[in-house]
Amino acid sequence: MFYVKENVNDALEMKIEISDENVYTTCPVCLKEISVDLSEVLKDGDLFATSVLCSKCSRKLKNGEFGEAHKFHDFLSKLYGEDEDE
Ligand SMILES: [Zn+2]
Repeated sequence: MFYVKENVNDALEMKIEISDENVYTTCPVCLKEISVDLSEVLKDGDLFATSVLCSKCSRKLKNGEFGEAHKFHDFLSKLYGEDEDE
């Protein structure tokens, strides 16, 4: 079992078990909250370098509505101020 731990204050610490139902992220494009299956993200290898798009935006990405995939990556890099040397 994995859990997240957060000190609410000096007297109260919360532990929340991570399940396949309580993990969320925000779509980097439209900022919509989406639930995430961590086992899917872990297959990609890097939890912290992985963005998960909502179904609407991933459909747009597949349809090429964001232009070339590398341009979309550039867009995200600008959005998050990623190191430009990479
Ligand atoms: Zn979205």
